[in-house]
Amino acid sequence: MPLARDVAEEVAKQYGVCIRPVPLKRLDTHTGLWEIIDVPCGATLEAKCPPCAKRNRHLRMAQCREGWHLDEEPTITPDEPDDEQRWLVEFRADVQTQRDQADQAGQDTADLDELISGLDEEINAAGMRGNVLGRTIPKRNRSTRRRQDAPELPKRKMINSTLGRTFESADGKTYRPSLFVTLTLPSYGKVNNGVPINPDTYDYARAARDALHFSKVVDRFVQNLRRVAGYDVQYFAAVEPQKRLAPHLHMAIRGTLPRAEIKQIAAATYHQVWWPAADRVVFEGDHLPVWEDGTGYLDPSTGEVLPTWDQALDRMDEPLHVIRFGVQVDVQGVLAGTPDADQCIRYLSKYLTKSLGDSLDPDDQAQRDHTARLAEALRFEPCSPTCPNWLRYGIQPKGAKPGMAPGQCRSKAHKPDHLGYAGRRVLVSRKWSNKTLAEHKQDRRTWVLEALGQTDEPPDPHRYVWKPVPAGDANVPPLAVRLLRSVHERQRWRAHMAQLQAQADGQDLSATEEVAA
Ligand SMILES: [Zn+2]
Ligand SMILES: [Zn+2]
Repeated sequence: MPLARDVAEEVAKQYGVCIRPVPLKRLDTHTGLWEIIDVPCGATLEAKCPPCAKRNRHLRMAQCREGWHLDEEPTITPDEPDDEQRWLVEFRADVQTQRDQADQAGQDTADLDELISGLDEEINAAGMRGNVLGRTIPKRNRSTRRRQDAPELPKRKMINSTLGRTFESADGKTYRPSLFVTLTLPSYGKVNNGVPINPDTYDYARAARDALHFSKVVDRFVQNLRRVAGYDVQYFAAVEPQKRLAPHLHMAIRGTLPRAEIKQIAAATYHQVWWPAADRVVFEGDHLPVWEDGTGYLDPSTGEVLPTWDQALDRMDEPLHVIRFGVQVDVQGVLAGTPDADQCIRYLSKYLTKSLGDSLDPDDQAQRDHTARLAEALRFEPCSPTCPNWLRYGIQPKGAKPGMAPGQCRSKAHKPDHLGYAGRRVLVSRKWSNKTLAEHKQDRRTWVLEALGQTDEPPDPHRYVWKPVPAGDANVPPLAVRLLRSVHERQRWRAHMAQLQAQADGQDLSATEEVAA
């Protein structure tokens, strides 16, 4: 019944209830009962439904606000994984099993792969670092020639602090100024209203590579910033699309540096991509490398084995790409608790509910053409060492396997709604606030429970076992029913809160009356 479903969805949206819940089977080991629980999509998938995206945005704003102007060092202690983290990991393990089974059966694993990478991101965001499965990747020894050199910049002596300087005014007040910095990529050609004036000379290849490697130059900027600042600089940053479709970065920085120094650091920062050359097309169209079991990919005409990824790395003598920021660097000083600070926080979270390509206007033909040309440039650009596009340039991708073809990489970097940037949209340094996003969520929960007069007892982490629900499971009611059920829960919750509020107000009143008497 599509109509009922639409209505239920609208109602759910009004109540801020997830409209794409993921049903999971949960075993309560205390009672031995299996139950089907709807988990909000925002907790599992990367693509969140509008209500989940909105809730996530508010959490991010709270997180940003909390860390920006801290006046005490945050205490960072690795916590025991909480319930949410645990189920994420268990769910991740189950999906991995499903994926491996599908792969063995020769089925398409793209959806499951996407789910897994989304879960990994979510697990990291929930405050657990590193790879859950404990897989370690051996590091290659690079020749010293390929080392990333630190640029020439002033250096201060490092102090063990994350806070930055304070200033005293004449009347003895202490100020703790902070920064809001915007970094953009260089020009690829003149644009008008986000669209190249001359598409033929616009450097799409460079735009594509810069977008693909954007997160690395951001990392370098932070490294250099810390070296110059002389303290453990903390930041909360968001990656957003510009109208010309290049990613750019807004960054709230705790503490302050002279504007000129920030500009100097941005100008000196660069990142070299030490990958094999990908500028000469060797195979295309029907003329593609062929796979041979036990050997790898061969040249279809000569039978020669293509160099493997490691061989190609050993042979290269210059970086594939060097990425730098553009000359446009905006630096703004911000004081805690001012309207300026609030505006920056809103600005930082403005686009978080959208994907990079979402800001496009579908009726704007010039912009659509521009997007299509960038997507074409991204189509054959290698996005990672394992990208099948390496075959086009005569190199076997890392971990080469049968069935690979250039132009058919499934990584999201090539997808039009990512525009080359497949990294995280929010970058938060480890000592930003005392809390991870999961802890900010927990804060809100604790607050509500306290308001309800209930205690938030530490959950038994071994209480529940989670399992995925097979598609089409007859025990899962139709979506409309599930949505309305969640709405009902939310209504009950709100009514209860309102009642408690009224009671609390009443108590206050009687207390005042007592005093008056
Ligand atoms: Zn949702
Ligand atoms: Zn790729």
